[in-house]
Amino acid sequence: MSFKLTGAFPSFRPRRLRKSAALRALVAETRLHPSQLVLPLFVRFGRRVRKPISTMPGVFQLSLDEIVKDAAKAFEAGVPAVLLFGIPDRKDERASGAYAKNGIVQQAVRLLKKELPELLVITDVCLCEYMSHGHCGIVQLNAHGDSILNDPSLKLLARTAASHAEAGADIVAPSDMMDGRVRAIRAELDGSGFEEIAVMSYAAKFASAYYGPFREAAESAPKFGDRRSYQMDAANANEALREVALDIAEGADIVMVKPALAYLDIIHRVKTEFGYPTAAYAVSAEYSMIKAAAANGWVDERAVTLESLLAMRRAGADILITYSAVDVAKWLRET
Ligand SMILES: [Zn+2]
Repeated sequence: MSFKLTGAFPSFRPRRLRKSAALRALVAETRLHPSQLVLPLFVRFGRRVRKPISTMPGVFQLSLDEIVKDAAKAFEAGVPAVLLFGIPDRKDERASGAYAKNGIVQQAVRLLKKELPELLVITDVCLCEYMSHGHCGIVQLNAHGDSILNDPSLKLLARTAASHAEAGADIVAPSDMMDGRVRAIRAELDGSGFEEIAVMSYAAKFASAYYGPFREAAESAPKFGDRRSYQMDAANANEALREVALDIAEGADIVMVKPALAYLDIIHRVKTEFGYPTAAYAVSAEYSMIKAAAANGWVDERAVTLESLLAMRRAGADILITYSAVDVAKWLRET
């Protein structure tokens, strides 16, 4: 686009098109719509459990009976999809709860697809919530300390994805950041007769301090070390494009950038470069910071939330994963 095409004052007056809400809407370049929203939900065993997450006001760990209620409310509000995270009863060194036939996510998927068949069910595919050490892959102790093994972890991730597909998931979403996981998952899905199940990869997932509140929500904080040996360095943008290119080559159908608001340049470059369906994950601290400021009367929660999500859309995101999805859907219907 060339700015030579722009007129000059006084013949050109940009304010002419800002005079009324109707005029502004007529020339709006970007819009928010409930159909773009995905609501993350945390599921755990038990009955009538609604365990509040203190760092994320309004977000709960839910038992199966409760998650159906919340998913139904979201669907009625116009949110078409949920993203499931599981909190198992037991953790071990093989993350066996991640791929158990009656694991918590597998049960939640079956129940949600039965009760709300039109709701899209996306599952987070990772091992960290199910590993006793809280890392996203298999850990090996060696002379240099601990290392997260890449290739052996792929088998467990692929098995996890296939078990979610078998339960009825519409989309599986690997978040581990092991190299080659999309290929391993695609091969396992295809080999098990699930070639129709889509993969949404957390393609550019950065090692971010913005995940802080989520660790309580998913009870997935690493017991030692951090995730910097597999999640991306916040300094790198070109590398993010290589990560996305790799996941697309391996069979990803949707690519995700996470976090969102501090990484709008990445969203923009990913969308511009690849033109693939692109998801932005507005992570826990993005949500909690707005909630905390709003609780103090410092910002208008609705206005700031909508503006943040609009910025993600403007950057190029098609899909918005946000803990505010239900409120956002309601607000959009009111306007
Ligand atoms: Zn993980």
